[in-house]
Amino acid sequence: MKILLDYTFEEIKNIVSQSGEAGYRATQLFDGLYRGAKLDEINLPKSLINYLQNEGYTAQGVEIVHCVESKLDGTKKYIFKLWDNNVIEGVLMKYKYGNTICVSTQVGCRMNCAFCASGLNGLVRNLTAGEILSQVVAVNRDNKSDDRRAITNIVLMGSGEPLDNYDDTTKFLRLVSDEKGLNISRRNISLSTCGLCDKIKRLADEDYGITLTISLHAPNDEIRKKIMPIANKYGVKDIMQAVRYYFDKSGRRIIFEYSMVGGLNDSVECADELSRLVKGLPCHINLIRLNYVKEKGLKGSDDAKIKEFKQRLERNGVSCTLRRSMGGDIDGACGQLRRKYIAGEV
Ligand code: SAH
Repeated sequence: MKILLDYTFEEIKNIVSQSGEAGYRATQLFDGLYRGAKLDEINLPKSLINYLQNEGYTAQGVEIVHCVESKLDGTKKYIFKLWDNNVIEGVLMKYKYGNTICVSTQVGCRMNCAFCASGLNGLVRNLTAGEILSQVVAVNRDNKSDDRRAITNIVLMGSGEPLDNYDDTTKFLRLVSDEKGLNISRRNISLSTCGLCDKIKRLADEDYGITLTISLHAPNDEIRKKIMPIANKYGVKDIMQAVRYYFDKSGRRIIFEYSMVGGLNDSVECADELSRLVKGLPCHINLIRLNYVKEKGLKGSDDAKIKEFKQRLERNGVSCTLRRSMGGDIDGACGQLRRKYIAGEV
């Protein structure tokens, strides 16, 4: 299946020109695609629609098949169907300053972190750039009643490891920030990775100007290896070198995610070790209580431990916040996204 959202404006122009239709049709087609329309919903001559369909093109990469809204905080979890009937999830979070969408980059994931539901069935396939973009376009359309440009911020933190799908993830970054497209500022885009260091350096060299978020979750290799298999390949030291490189190139503060697991990474000793690790690096640490995933069995830290840990970081001069978990009642919180729908569980 060829998804039209995978193509740049120039490429769409070529496709339209090959069809023999007038050049201005490319603009109409492109606008329709970014409004989230299907081919037959765009004001185009039937001959062009027929041509595109016969050539195997489809407009959108995803279709919303389900949406649940959290009663706690208004977070919406979307279930999207792909052309091959695989399903992925995305989450829309509403904040005072705007709306953030959390998008998926792969069906499943092969990183197999001990606390995360996304990798329960391994990696099924990569998403194309157009399939990632289509999640943003579809949710934008679904929320336009509130606001014309419903989505202001994007986090690549849904299922999958974005840097394990480097080419399509970066193509997505180029498409979504294109002024002809959604024109979302790269400064409002954050990519979260478990720490694929070679790819972090490449991302720095290619100068995307996005915020880099690292799922650190431990101050040393010993603890990290217990929960993240990738720690056997890249050590904490490698990560710190890679993020320093990223900061030096981009000038953008690094964000670390630190999910707190009861009795594993939540001691004051860990807080001190973490403080030493990040010393001198412009960064911010997001603490988050581990969300419960039943197959995984790991428990989040209790309130007192989190408070103590946070105070210790602050005393050490480390910038940190305890991130509010959103969408917990709809399994939309971090690490809870999974291939549930396909298994008929929704
Ligand atoms: N693969 C990328 C993108 C996933 S982002 C990455 O590792 O960063 C999802 C974020 O939620 C990551 O920081 C991940 O480590 C975290 N996470 C996964 N499972 C979690 C859970 N059960 N509770 C809290 N955070 C979790």
